[in-house]
Amino acid sequence: MAPTKQRILTGIRPTGALHLGHYIGALENWLRLQEQYECFFLIADYQALGDHIEEIDRIRKSVLDVALDWLSVGLNPTDNAFVIQSYVPEHAELTLLLSMITPMGRLERNPTLKTEMQRLESESMSVGFYTYPVSQVADILLPKAHLVPVGEDQIPHIEMTREIARKFNRLYGEVFPEPKALVGRIPRLMGTDGQAKMSKSLDNCIHLSDDAAAVTERVRRMYTDPARLRATDPGHLEGNPVFMYHDAFNPNKAEVDELKERYVQGKVGDVEVKKKLAVALNAFLDPIRERRAYYEQRRDDVAAALLDGTRRARAIAAQTMLEVRTAMRLIYLD
Ligand code: ATP
Ligand code: MG
Repeated sequence: MAPTKQRILTGIRPTGALHLGHYIGALENWLRLQEQYECFFLIADYQALGDHIEEIDRIRKSVLDVALDWLSVGLNPTDNAFVIQSYVPEHAELTLLLSMITPMGRLERNPTLKTEMQRLESESMSVGFYTYPVSQVADILLPKAHLVPVGEDQIPHIEMTREIARKFNRLYGEVFPEPKALVGRIPRLMGTDGQAKMSKSLDNCIHLSDDAAAVTERVRRMYTDPARLRATDPGHLEGNPVFMYHDAFNPNKAEVDELKERYVQGKVGDVEVKKKLAVALNAFLDPIRERRAYYEQRRDDVAAALLDGTRRARAIAAQTMLEVRTAMRLIYLD
């Protein structure tokens, strides 16, 4: 028999269509590792509810859309599991138990949570949002994952997962492996507006499902070097999303190097650099669009993949919860 594969758990919130940041920060690694590991790809709807409770319709629509995006990039739902978080209630159960061994101060120090909290008004912030990092810890520990491929913003959550796994094992006996994070080729893709992160919550994305005209238009309006007024001014590459995207998605390295050289010398206009970027992005997205068109005609298969993956994940989750309850001595009547 083949040796058991190590496991990956990673996920995405169903808050909208997936974008280039997801691809380069996370999905690219998922694709590379999906045969080597047994992967659990989680659609984290509990975590979406934390700050989108008034947009349940959007979450409902996004669950299937995320699965479609995953199939469109080439993830395999047969050897791996596509999982709907709230259909595996053990996620909620483990979150609750782990919250008992998570100090409040540990959440207060989480820099990603702090940044996200600044975006929400503190009065309207729900308790569920505040504790979502604990829910993420439970997500990862439930299938006993060894590796978590994510974008850089998730690192503090994985660090917390390691700490809580260690603490649980110390208090109750060895149950959980300590998972490692794996960050993508570009740890944090900038937004088209020049903000530090392309994010579903901000209108600064190029989506994997955008058509060619939409991509070209987005690129045309993209933020570049604000200090550069004329094509003859020497330009800056740092903090310039146009070149970050060229590095990430244009396979023609010679073209990119040549554009960079001319840009810093003031010998190329933004129009040419952006036109070449739009061409590269559309070439990258074309096969994804083709697969999407195929699966859009087969939405029943997409739903079946979700149900099947969720069922398999639930069996594993039940097993882990039995181990957790036994380790914590929460079995009272036998
Ligand atoms: P939201 O704004 O709703 O939080 P998001 O765009 O941040 O959405 P998530 O579902 O929170 O998307 O993140 C899913 C995964 O994609 C995580 O591993 C995250 O680190 C990664 N990711 C998201 N945006 C980027 C980005 N711009 N660059 C690199 N990785 C990213
Ligand atoms: Mg996010």
